[in-house]
Amino acid sequence: MELWFTEQHTKDVNFSIRVEKQLYSSQSDFQKIDIFDTKEFGKILTLDGYIMVTEKDEFIYHDMITHVPMATNPNIKKVLVIGAGDGGTIRELTRYSTIEQIDMVEIDPMVVSACQEYIPQTACKLTDERVHIYYEDGLKFVRTKNNEYDLVIVDSTDPFGPGEGLFTKEFYGNCYNALTEDGILVNQHESTFYDEYVATMQRAHKRIKELFPVVGVYQAHIPTYPSGHWLFGFASKKYDPIKDFHADQWNQLGLITKYYNTDLHVGAFAVPNYVKELLEDV
Ligand code: SAM
Repeated sequence: MELWFTEQHTKDVNFSIRVEKQLYSSQSDFQKIDIFDTKEFGKILTLDGYIMVTEKDEFIYHDMITHVPMATNPNIKKVLVIGAGDGGTIRELTRYSTIEQIDMVEIDPMVVSACQEYIPQTACKLTDERVHIYYEDGLKFVRTKNNEYDLVIVDSTDPFGPGEGLFTKEFYGNCYNALTEDGILVNQHESTFYDEYVATMQRAHKRIKELFPVVGVYQAHIPTYPSGHWLFGFASKKYDPIKDFHADQWNQLGLITKYYNTDLHVGAFAVPNYVKELLEDV
C-alpha cells in the first residue's frame, strides 16, 4: 500500500508527496516531529504536519534568508538566529569567514538531534566553533539583548504553537533593541497567495514597519511551501537592500550558490502588484 504525506495548505487545498519510508516520528514537549524519505524531494522534516525542510528545495529558502542580508552589509560579524533547528541557515552563514559569532536560539533540542541524525545535508555545520546553540524560547532570549547583533534572522515555524510569540510586536521591538545601529532583521514572512495567510503577513509587516526606518519584502519560489510563492521580510536601521547593495563585493567572495545571485537579489524585491497592494493596505 502506498504511503503519502499530506499537508493541508488551506481548508480547500491539500499538498501531497509520496513517501518511501518514515524514518523518524516523535512527540517533543513542543511539537510532533516527523522525518520521511521520499523519491521526489529526498528527506523531509515536518513539524505538527507542516513541511519545514526538504532536501530537494531547502537551498532556495536558506540561500535567500542568508545571502540577501549578508550581501547588503558585508561587515556583519555577530549574528543571532532564532529557530532554524534544521541547521540550513547556519550552514550558509558559516560560509562567511568574516562572521565571528553565530548565536542560535532554538526552543526544541529534539528537532536539532533528529536533523543531525537524519538530515546532515542541513545540520552539517551546527558544530562549527563560531556557533553557540541556546535551547530557549527566542521570545525570552531577545528580551535581555541590547545593541549586540549586526544581523537577526528569524527562521521560525508559522505563528501557532511555539512560534506564535515570534510574530508579536513585543518580539520585533526586542529584535530592534538587540541590533546594533547598522543592524538588519530578516524573517520568514509567509505567503500572500491564499487568503488564510494574508492577515498574518500583513500584521507582521505592519508591526515591523512601525519600528524600523527601512522596511521591505522580497520573494522566492519554494515548491513545497503553500502556493510556492514565499516572502521574506527585510528591515534595517540604516542599510537599504538595493541602494546600499554592492554586487561586485559579494561576487568577489566567490561563494557558489544554487539559487541566490546578485541579479536575483535586486529582482526579488520587485514584488507583483497584488502583493504591493496588500502591503500598502496595512
Ligand atoms: N524553514 C522553516 C519553515 O518556515 O518552514 C523553519 C525551519 S526551523 C525547523 C523552525 C524552528 O523554529 C523549529 O525547529 C522550531 O522548534 C523553532 N521554534 C519555534 N518557535 C520557537 C521559539 N519561540 N523560539 C525558538 N525557536 C522556535
